[in-house]
Formats: sequence, structure tokens, C-alpha cells
Amino acid sequence: MTDADSDAEAGDPEALAERVRTGELRLHELDDRVDAETAAAARRRLLEAETDADFDAVGDYGIDAAQASDANVENMVGAAQIPMGVAGPVAVAGGSADGDYYLPLATTEGALVASVNRGCSVVATAGGADARVTKSGMTRAPVFRVSGVAEAEEVVSWVGDHRERLREAAESTTSHGELLDVDTYVVGDSVFLRFVYDTKDAMGMNMATIATREAAQVVEDETPASLVALSGNLCTDKKPAAINAVEGRGRSVTADVTIPRETVEERLHTTPEAIEEANTRKNLVGSAKAGSLGFNAHAANVVAAAFLATGQDAAQVVEGSNAITTVEARQDELYASVSLASLEVGTVGGGTKLPTQSEALDVLGLRGGGDPAGDNADALAEIIAVGALAGELSLLAALASRHLSSAHEDLGR
Ligand code: NAP
Repeated sequence: MTDADSDAEAGDPEALAERVRTGELRLHELDDRVDAETAAAARRRLLEAETDADFDAVGDYGIDAAQASDANVENMVGAAQIPMGVAGPVAVAGGSADGDYYLPLATTEGALVASVNRGCSVVATAGGADARVTKSGMTRAPVFRVSGVAEAEEVVSWVGDHRERLREAAESTTSHGELLDVDTYVVGDSVFLRFVYDTKDAMGMNMATIATREAAQVVEDETPASLVALSGNLCTDKKPAAINAVEGRGRSVTADVTIPRETVEERLHTTPEAIEEANTRKNLVGSAKAGSLGFNAHAANVVAAAFLATGQDAAQVVEGSNAITTVEARQDELYASVSLASLEVGTVGGGTKLPTQSEALDVLGLRGGGDPAGDNADALAEIIAVGALAGELSLLAALASRHLSSAHEDLGR
């Protein structure tokens, strides 16, 4: 062993970075040589030497590098930090959520938290919002090859006759997950089986994938079908897709509120009729003309900020913002609702265990598994839906009263 080697083995980030630079070690091999903190420091030294970057801020983090390197990221160099604010409190009467909640939101968009906060304050003044998870199921849809439609029909009918066998195989891989359904789709010589699971408090994508792999093996063993891909994109994960809008994925959740006319006039400086017109022409007609999947003003803003704050998978904002906002001016009040068709959230697993994310879940009282299992993730979905409703109301009111550009000028620049 040379001196450089012993420096490296002793955990000197500079020496380790030099060994990577000369090709003796690969970036990911650092984790096998030294602890995760030192490995991350060595990668920072390497990047600082090879680029013009200065990584003082990236290296200043409160994450347990070993835990994050084990479960959340490879080739860790540090952490990207996003400011976190809070909106609320807002009263939520849900199937699982019940009480006054502060909603943690991580964002870089100035004016967003203020806007959601204004909406929460109006909802609170109106006595709070109702929210319910109306459907729940995480999906994984493998695609199989068959010789043609005759074999395809044989596979589909075998699946129909052997749900119990598939359920046993799938559920042998998990102590929490339950197989709810297997939907079948045939396209030429491709057969898609869309497995639907109750994943309780987990968002469930790993759980559903592992369970489906086991069930797919049974299909391959017992039918002429040959597995091509464990995800055949009919799931549909992290891509805009009508199937999620129609069938739901994760939690389908709706929040609604009725706000007295005088509250709309005093707090939002507009009228129920003006908000209804803004919603109809913008969120419904405009979205229809655009061929949009989402018929809302900015549900993605609240979904993304809540996802980042609470450790959800950020890429699933794609389907999380698949929402329809409805508004109706009634005689003495305004009715408003937001229905999110495919909100994929969990309070266990994934990024929820990271320190700032678990603290954000603590703000909601939802860290970890619920009692009964699934209750915490349902409550999280309901609270995010109410946050999205607050955001919709605030933005629609700003548009209706023509305050939007001045709010952004004051708060975002
Ligand atoms: P996970 O962290 O892989 O697993 C969570 C585990 O927690 C469950 O499998 C379950 O174990 C256990 N658990 C303990 N208490 C629970 C409770 N009350 N309710 C439910 N489960 C409980 O998380 P995941 O939600 O399945 O997957 C999320 C991760 O998948 C994220 O990191 C995401 O980025 C990633 N992801 C993966 C894919 C993929 O294709 N694999 C796609 C998209 C995203 P048991 O199963 O043993 O009961």
C-alpha cells in the first residue's frame, strides 16, 4: 500500500478524491472504502477540483448520510436545500384527518405560501373544509408477450379464474400490502395486467412492484404469456395519463368548502359570481380547449411543495396534479371543490424517513404508520387536498379581483 493509499483508507477526502480522479477508484466505490459522510466529502472535493463549483452549501446538511446513501440516493455529495414555509392553520373534517392543521410547504416560488395561507385563512373563517379519500389503490401493470389474440384471451381468462392464486403470490412479499384487483387489457399480441393494491401508509410503488414480480412469475408459469416488462406503462407512473384521471391511482381525494358571500367579499375582495366565472372560463373551458388533463389553476404548486416538504416522490407530482376544480356561486355562499384523481402519498418509506421530512410530517401528526394502517396516508392526502383547495380559491380570487401580478411583484421579486 502506498502513502496515498493509506491516507485514502484513513478517510482523507482529498486523497480519496485524487484516487477517483486518477481512475484508481470509481465514484460509487467510495462507499465501500469509507463511511458515507467521508465518501460524500470526497466527491465534493473531486467536483470542486474538476469544476468551478464551490460546495460549501451543498456540504452543509443535517441528513444522516449513511441512511440517505442506503435508501435514498447514490453517489451522495450533500443535500439540495429548499426553503420551507407553513400555511394555516386550517380546519379539516376528513375521513381520517380531523382538526386544525399547519401545512408545511417547501418551495422556491415567492408568493405561493402567502397565497395558500390566504386561502387557508378564508377556509378557516368559513368553518373549515370537508375532505374524503373516495378511492385508493396503487398500481403496477406488467406487459406480457403472447402469440396473438387467441393466446391473449386464454391468459385473460386464466387470470379471471385464478385471482386467489395471484393474491397469495403477491401478498407473500409484504405484511401490509393487499391485492385488490387485476384489470386486464389486450392490444394485439400484448397483454397488460394492471395490479391494484391497498398499500396502507406506504405510497407503495416498491411494495407493488415487488408483489407484482411474484404474481407475474405465476402467470408466466401457468400460461403461455411471457413477461416483457414489469412496468408496461399502463400503471401509469410518472407520466401524464388519462387512465390515472379516470381510474385513479394512489389516493383519489376530494376537498370542498362553502364560504359565506360576505367572507368572499371581505377577505377575497371579489364575489362568488366572479370566482365562478374565472373558474369556468379558465379552469374548465380553457383547460378543455388546451386538451389538458388537469382542470385546475395551480394544484401542482401545492402538491409539489407538500411533496417536497413531507418526503414524497417528487416525480409523482405529474399525476398528483391531475385535479378538477369546481366552483358554484350559490345564493348566499360560494361552493368550491378540488378532486385530485391520483395523489400518491405515504407516511412510511421512501423519503419520509429523512430528518426534515419527518419533522414536517410531525407538524401534521402523521409520521409513520397509522392506526389502523392506512389512516395516516389517507389523512395526509386529505390535508394536501384542502391545501390545494386553498390555493385554488386564493388564485381564482386574485384573478377575479385582478390582483395577481401585483402580488407576484410584491412577494416574488
Ligand atoms: P418502501 O420504503 O419501499 O417500503 C415501505 C415498507 O414499509 C412497506 O413495504 C412495508 O413493509 C413497511 N411498512 C411499515 N409500516 C407500514 C404501514 N403502516 N403501511 C404500509 N407499509 C408499512 O416504500 P414504498 O412506498 O413501497 O415505495 C416508495 C419508494 O418507491 C419511494 O422511494 C419511491 O421513490 C420509489 N419508487 C419506486 C418505483 C419502482 O418501480 N420500484 C417507482 C416509483 C417510485 P411490508 O411490505 O413488509 O409490509
